[in-house]
Amino acid sequence: MNFIFLGPPGAGKGTLAAAVSASYGIPHISTGEIFRAAIKAQTPLGCKVKAIIDSGSLVGDDITVELVKERLSQPDTKNGFILDGFPRTIAQAEALEKFARIDCAVNFDIDDNGVVERLSGRRVCRTCSHNFHVVFMPPEKENICTHCGGELFVRDDDKPEAIKHRLEVYRAQTAPLIDFYRSKNLLKDIDAKPATDLVLQAFQTAFPKERT
Ligand code: AMP
Repeated sequence: MNFIFLGPPGAGKGTLAAAVSASYGIPHISTGEIFRAAIKAQTPLGCKVKAIIDSGSLVGDDITVELVKERLSQPDTKNGFILDGFPRTIAQAEALEKFARIDCAVNFDIDDNGVVERLSGRRVCRTCSHNFHVVFMPPEKENICTHCGGELFVRDDDKPEAIKHRLEVYRAQTAPLIDFYRSKNLLKDIDAKPATDLVLQAFQTAFPKERT
């Protein structure tokens, strides 16, 4: 199946998408991750988007749509995919309709307090990009990645001012997508407040593997 994962920043979309990707065997496509990789590699795209991303604003629709269009043309997406963090505007959703079929938009629902709690505790590995949380998913050793031994850091856009801005951007530009997909009968709400393994279970119940 071709999924979109919707929900505010901090809803846990990335963590869930990684788990679903591994267990359902479909690629996890995160536009945020693609941008961060470009920034790390200092490509022309990375240099162009760094300041926008650090502030918590959105990269332009044209750049982002082109990137996703190119990614979805690759053969590993033929049996399904998860779009995490895309679309983020109605214009992106309308553009996506022209080059991909979407079977379900899963809305991971969480309130603002939950978002702040999740994002302010998030730590990311500088080497392998694995995510941890100081309370909910702590690394075995403080500030050290359990998987590769890399150093953990706080994303610039997880700092308090940027979190506030990202929530405003989400409400103004991305939340309207919930009604956009609901009106097409493509929306499935899942409560994202419980621990990740419970949210994953809810997803697996809603979408049994043999039917995806
Ligand atoms: P994420 O990892 O999904 O939270 O994305 C991190 C940042 O990347 C966002 O705050 C935006 O600056 C940028 N970004 C990711 N996906 C998109 C998108 N679909 N449209 C515009 N900007 C995006």
